[in-house]
Amino acid sequence: MEYLWDQSVQRPSFPALREDTETEVLVIGGGMAGVLCAYRLEQAGVPYLLAEAKEIGGGVTKGTTAVLTAQHDALYTDLIAKFGVQKAKQYLDANLWAVRKFQELAKVYPCDFEIEPSFMYTRADPGKLKQEVRTVNRLGYPAEFQEKTRLPFPVSGAVCYPDMGQFHPLKFLYGIAKGLNIYEHTFVSRLKGGFAETPNGTIRAKKIIVATHFPFLNRRGLYPAKLYQMRSFVVALAGAPDLHGTYVDTAQGGIYFRNYKNLLLVGGGDHRTGSKGGGFPAVHRFVRQYFPRAEEKYVWATQDCMSLDDVPYIGQYSPATPDLLVTTGFNEWGMTSSMVAAAVLTDRILGNSSRFADVFSPQRTMLRKQLWVNFGTTIADMALPVTKRCSHLGCALKWNRAEHTWDCPCHGSRFDYHGRLIDNPAMRDSKVE
Ligand SMILES: Cc1cc2nc3c(=O)[nH]c(=O)nc-3n(C[C@H](O)[C@H](O)[C@H](O)COP(=O)(O)OP(=O)(O)OC[C@H]3O[C@@H](n4cnc5c(N)ncnc54)[C@H](O)[C@@H]3O)c2cc1C
Repeated sequence: MEYLWDQSVQRPSFPALREDTETEVLVIGGGMAGVLCAYRLEQAGVPYLLAEAKEIGGGVTKGTTAVLTAQHDALYTDLIAKFGVQKAKQYLDANLWAVRKFQELAKVYPCDFEIEPSFMYTRADPGKLKQEVRTVNRLGYPAEFQEKTRLPFPVSGAVCYPDMGQFHPLKFLYGIAKGLNIYEHTFVSRLKGGFAETPNGTIRAKKIIVATHFPFLNRRGLYPAKLYQMRSFVVALAGAPDLHGTYVDTAQGGIYFRNYKNLLLVGGGDHRTGSKGGGFPAVHRFVRQYFPRAEEKYVWATQDCMSLDDVPYIGQYSPATPDLLVTTGFNEWGMTSSMVAAAVLTDRILGNSSRFADVFSPQRTMLRKQLWVNFGTTIADMALPVTKRCSHLGCALKWNRAEHTWDCPCHGSRFDYHGRLIDNPAMRDSKVE
């Protein structure tokens, strides 16, 4: 696997924590979410530290396709059905604000930001997309229905948001991180009260933000029940056309696109981590059919946390922990969601009311169909009579033939051939040999 975004960018480096220390706010995790929280705290003049286990931007953020849009798969017609008009509008306004905020910051931190239309397309019945356009117009954004796109195959319809964006995620992240109070190679192994334990010192903080992609405290907030992970597969092609926009298929596991300079990024084949699904073969089949002369320059896969109701969890970690905050469950839309999280959590720390917070509250109902799917998956998996078990909650690990890793189908932790930890929520290696 070779990622696109970490090629030829200068990575800033930060020291590791070497002694006990204290601060007002500790941010744990240096992906897009954690670094934006740190940036916003810095802007607000709040004393803070960010602790990153490895290197900033080296987690899921390195594998994103970095499309900036308020047009998330959680189509607004569904959001209204689940949450009502007011909260659906809050979600839309939050993400539109986030796109404009990236645009503003890109003037200060060069990151190849471009305004592009974003499209959600279908090759099936377009009725749902036509309804979606009416819904989004009603919520106040001028989405348009189109029957033709620049995609190399006919679609039956597409929803266009005319002025969304795309950027280079690591150029942006490294730019805003310079000068922030960041410790790299500082793994937080345990939280107790306001104390965070790391290998070389304890950090005492009044408030703690967990921005570790999958939250690592199992006993609070029920995150192992309300999250699962979805893997997705991307290739970057030279010699493929410029599609002048970003595109996502509404079908499960469908194909998505964006250009970056002379490359076309083609992604898809999504499936639950540890389960079977399209994977790289689905993406490669598509590329052979529609771009047979294109040359594959980069290829990678990564995964994101999916919530029960297609809306991220941003706010108080659990009802009993007022000083412990969380941001997770980005449903493969973590760029604008990270910007929203930084605003919501910083407002909360400052004691300001937030016009975006309500819809993202982690304390909202868990009674969604996906909860039973998650329970069913876990119960079936736990019952398997195998010895290779995940160090997180003891689920049976599945061998991933395509990527040569041991994957947990329940919560999405991944380990290499020798059992060394690759992806959380597991916090340590697993015994697989
Ligand atoms: C293939 C793919 C394409 C995507 N494309 C888009 C897109 O086009 N647009 C969009 O909006 N979103 C997209 N997403 C989603 C987006 O990339 C993610 O939601 C986002 O990058 C997640 O950022 P994060 O900061 O939460 O996680 P991460 O980037 O994973 O950061 C978490 C950090 O926490 C650190 N950490 C973990 N545990 C600890 C600990 N105990 N102590 C200290 N540090 C710790 C990790 O090392 C890591 O650096 C995509 C996702 C996928 C899978």
